[in-house]
Amino acid sequence: MLKGKTALVTGSTSGIGLATARALAADGANIMLNGFGDKDAIEKERAGLEKEFGIKARYSPADMSKPAEIAAMIATTEKEFGALDVLVNNAGIQHVALIEDFPLDKWDAVIAINLSSAFHAIRAAMPGMKQRKWGRIINIASAHGLVASAQKVAYVAAKHGIVGLTKVVAIEAANDGVTCNAICPGWVLTPLVQKQIDARAQATGQSNREAEIALLSEKQPMHQFTKPEGIGALAVFLCSDGAASITGSAYSIDGGWVAQ
Ligand code: NAD
Repeated sequence: MLKGKTALVTGSTSGIGLATARALAADGANIMLNGFGDKDAIEKERAGLEKEFGIKARYSPADMSKPAEIAAMIATTEKEFGALDVLVNNAGIQHVALIEDFPLDKWDAVIAINLSSAFHAIRAAMPGMKQRKWGRIINIASAHGLVASAQKVAYVAAKHGIVGLTKVVAIEAANDGVTCNAICPGWVLTPLVQKQIDARAQATGQSNREAEIALLSEKQPMHQFTKPEGIGALAVFLCSDGAASITGSAYSIDGGWVAQ
């Protein structure tokens, strides 16, 4: 379906981003990877995508907290592949603290990476998408884009912001063949969440599994993690012809979290 198209997935060296890049590659898209990590491991992943799916894959080390690097990454993608057709804004970080203790630099970093980066990437990618009359923008928000939790002030503000940004972009591009949607996952077992489980286990003396169940059951009726592959599959669907009129939506994939 996506053969001949190019997808850029920010923060795709790990977790949800990597699974989404793999799902888009499996559907035929060329891939621009992005994110931090071990150089050799990233190269192995990039070469592996090309070999497994018969597509072209490149890697950009752009720091998503730096607007100039984001714009340069979009320009490089368009130059390398001839176009940028699918943009998945996924890079994200978390910091947990009460508002009165929240470090200023952590607030700035979470807002920059989880929210402003999507604005900068879409701003740079939109002219090409509008010109070609086809584009799919998918913003990885969160259940925290729709509801809140204590101690996550920057994350919740950024994710609510992403849902709002998604709606504006959808309206602006509605008649240009470009759709923009948000995906709102509940708990997905990735390094970002493992850190929170480790912190909980350390604070309470629970085992890893006990801490996992405690974390899940606090928020989700379903006591299971969403798999990163499930988010990849939803992203592929949002790129399909069947999803051509879906725009401005926020899709929950969260084990019933926000149904309560
Ligand atoms: P992760 O920690 O496994 O991956 C984060 C990715 O972002 C990595 O590739 C990392 O290198 C990259 N990244 C971080 N800072 C960056 C920067 N400055 N520049 C470029 N890349 C950067 O996390 P994940 O759980 O896969 O999260 C991915 C997205 O999904 C995030 O936006 C997160 O908020 C969202 N999300 C995660 C969950 C969950 O339960 N894991 C739930 C809802 C939403």
